[in-house]
Amino acid sequence: MRARRPWSAFLGAFWPFIVGVTLIAAGLVAIVIGYLGVSGTVFVGLQVPYLVSGAFLGLALVFLGSVLLLVQVMTRQTRLLRRLLAEVESPAAGDIAAPAALPDDGAASPNGAKVYAVRGGRWFHRPGCILLEGKRATPMSPHQADLEHLTPCRLCDPTVPAAT
Ligand SMILES: [Zn+2]
Repeated sequence: MRARRPWSAFLGAFWPFIVGVTLIAAGLVAIVIGYLGVSGTVFVGLQVPYLVSGAFLGLALVFLGSVLLLVQVMTRQTRLLRRLLAEVESPAAGDIAAPAALPDDGAASPNGAKVYAVRGGRWFHRPGCILLEGKRATPMSPHQADLEHLTPCRLCDPTVPAAT
């Protein structure tokens, strides 16, 4: 499907540009023909229709071509913007996933080797406690938590092994 001849892929991506340029060129030609028609006509009464039709047709074609060129440019800008947004979003998604990687309920740390405390707080927690959510938790050993006179969280109830 994708392995078509390269010129067809080129046409698929650039047809508004090509058609736009062609229309602008045709418009300019129409204006020139209109002008030549006017200069070649002796009778004033015949000059006006020539000029009007030539100029109008030419301007319409030039306008249409410009719109197509604009569409082409905007399509490319949109594609670029989308790619940039995708690049910005992917590291952010990895950032969000990072706290979820904390071991849940001490499953990864069987003997409760690590507890977490929020700086300035009075409690220490199991990893993954909801009270830690959105806060910067400092990992420490239960013994260290004991030394800092932190009390176990009443919600997640981290069990303190005999650290003494
Ligand atoms: Zn807790």
